[in-house]
Amino acid sequence: MTTALIIGGGIAGAVTAIALHKAGIGATVYEAYATPADEIGAFLTVGTNGIDALQAVDLDRSVAAAGVPARWLQVFDAAGEQVGQAPITGSERPDLGPRTFKRAALYRVLQDELAARDLPVQRGKRLVDGTATTAGVTATFADGSSAGADVLIGADGVHSVTRQLIDPAAPEPRYTGQHIVYGFTDKTPVEVPADTYQMIRGEKGFFGITGAPAGGLWWFARVSGPELTSAQAAAVTTAQWRDQLIAVFEADRTPAAAVVAATTEPIVGTGNYDVPTVPTWHNGRMTIAGDAAHAASPAAAQGASMAIEDAVVLAKCLRDIADPATAFDTYERHRRERVERLVQASAAMSQRRTQERPDQRSSNANWLRDHHIDWDSRI
Ligand SMILES: Cc1cc2nc3c(=O)[nH]c(=O)nc-3n(C[C@H](O)[C@H](O)[C@H](O)COP(=O)(O)OP(=O)(O)OC[C@H]3O[C@@H](n4cnc5c(N)ncnc54)[C@H](O)[C@@H]3O)c2cc1C
Repeated sequence: MTTALIIGGGIAGAVTAIALHKAGIGATVYEAYATPADEIGAFLTVGTNGIDALQAVDLDRSVAAAGVPARWLQVFDAAGEQVGQAPITGSERPDLGPRTFKRAALYRVLQDELAARDLPVQRGKRLVDGTATTAGVTATFADGSSAGADVLIGADGVHSVTRQLIDPAAPEPRYTGQHIVYGFTDKTPVEVPADTYQMIRGEKGFFGITGAPAGGLWWFARVSGPELTSAQAAAVTTAQWRDQLIAVFEADRTPAAAVVAATTEPIVGTGNYDVPTVPTWHNGRMTIAGDAAHAASPAAAQGASMAIEDAVVLAKCLRDIADPATAFDTYERHRRERVERLVQASAAMSQRRTQERPDQRSSNANWLRDHHIDWDSRI
């Protein structure tokens, strides 16, 4: 039986472990952090295609139950005029419609699903090195320990160490020139239902709001700014983010500045990076999945869904093809074009600031959202 080391216990790592388990392949997850992060205001959407991929590995029901349906996208201009509305789903199957999650709630349900299958997760294990031979692969961690298996899957996010181990010449993540800032308020300066995203094209920045199911508002902003190291971003205080965002949005006749001003939880911001193309996805024994292989800017709200799709397709390849190098070639062949197209589309949306009109979005999005993965067919 094939055995796998999975580096990273985020979305790609957890779903890969569960999908490999369904494929009859033993896997252990090694996660750098000792405790799961709980980023207070952070939320994300899993699209129809992501929920479909979860269904392939029996995760759709439990995951969907941790989120709320996302049904409508409304677009406003800087004058506060609504300039469009479209259904988000784009799917013939409403039961598989997209969901909004508190990021921590999505991580928690995936951790629970790992535990329900007795799948081992080792925390506080930061990968620093790895070697592949014809016989197997060995991972070395920052605490000096090591582990071996037949294959290693790097699900270690946008700043992936595995990507560099596979190819030391792999490109660095590309700074998009924007900060992504997000927060939560239990106040409602504007009423937004929990199934609706209001997207505001401000004169100087982009703002999104959705209602939180228990009341209040989740919001995010995309604003231009200099590159920040993660330490620099972490040092920016809530008051500093608040003042900066109010200055960006206060001249617009939209609720953005009022929502920021009313924010009751810590405001968190990061530099926004993407990874448009990674020339080498594997070295025969090690490969990458999720943001490690193809991080997209959040504009298209598809990074998590793509990570889930990768996980399921990768598990099918390892299930159906005995030789790891051939399995990884097949995985890359099934995934590369789709994920690179998504990264490109999301980068274009980020830079345009105006976004596409939602009616264009829904008609163009079928390639993205109406994608189906059939677990039972051979790869
Ligand atoms: C502000 C923001 C909003 C977003 N909104 C959306 C959205 O609405 N919809 C959507 O689909 N996507 C969204 N995304 C993107 C989405 O969050 C990512 O695409 C998704 O989390 C990728 O999953 P992943 O498992 O590949 O990486 P991650 O979730 O980043 O997980 C990587 C894991 O690897 C661990 N790790 C890293 N290095 C090591 C190491 N050396 N050793 C061991 N472990 C390691 C990390 O601690 C982490 O747990 C958003 C991203 C941001 C920043």
